[in-house]
Amino acid sequence: MAMEENIASVLGRIKSAALAAGRNPEELTLVAVSKTAPVQSVKRAFGAGLAVFGENRIQEAGEKMQALKATPARWHFIGHLQTNKARAALKLGFELIHSVDSERLFFELEKQAALLNIEAQDVLVEIKLSHEPSKHGLMPEELFGFLEKSRGAKHINIVGLMTMPPWSEDSGAARPYFRKLRELRDEARRRGFSGIGALSMGMSGDFEVAIAEGATLVRVGEAIFGARKNEKEPEAFEND
Ligand SMILES: *Cc1c(COP(=O)(O)O)cnc(C)c1O
Repeated sequence: MAMEENIASVLGRIKSAALAAGRNPEELTLVAVSKTAPVQSVKRAFGAGLAVFGENRIQEAGEKMQALKATPARWHFIGHLQTNKARAALKLGFELIHSVDSERLFFELEKQAALLNIEAQDVLVEIKLSHEPSKHGLMPEELFGFLEKSRGAKHINIVGLMTMPPWSEDSGAARPYFRKLRELRDEARRRGFSGIGALSMGMSGDFEVAIAEGATLVRVGEAIFGARKNEKEPEAFEND
């Protein structure tokens, strides 16, 4: 299928899933995950109406942002961010960093944002809900203690939570993970962290389930850009 058809199909499915869940489709942001896709494909997707692109490597993101700086595309960072790349990530100016996966990374971002005079960078906290060693994130039981400590931060705004459930053929298998993330978000709000609203969850195989469970951002790659070839799991060889 041509990319334009993929995009129309994904947008239609997002809308249907939102309406089926009694939600307003406009509450949902489609993050088109363009990692490994060439600049030309991103340009074409932008032309077909997509506005938000997700990248998982700082260098690749920087190259694409530079090549497409004439377009008003919005860029999100969705991958594991090494602490020593926090400054580079801030300088690129992502609209949202989905993947703050440790206290150490959060405070490094805060420190570097102060040095760079960046007034506000929005981020999500990544939560590790499965026990796979390849996944990153805070354990759910660490979240509230971490949020207390983060209260003093002046430059980094935590606006929500993100998760990646274990990979499965069966999209329904992800549902309990998505539900758990929503419950954590709701509990954070009850505890007074009222800025925490966004839920980044759902990918090509399971975004409709995620929408039913309250996703506000879905991160969709292959269903738009086609299958990625020979992908290496970044976490498998990048050491922090
Ligand atoms: C690659 C990736 C996605 C997109 O996955 P698809 O299966 O291609 O839709 C979403 N989120 C993260 C964090 C990713 O690394």
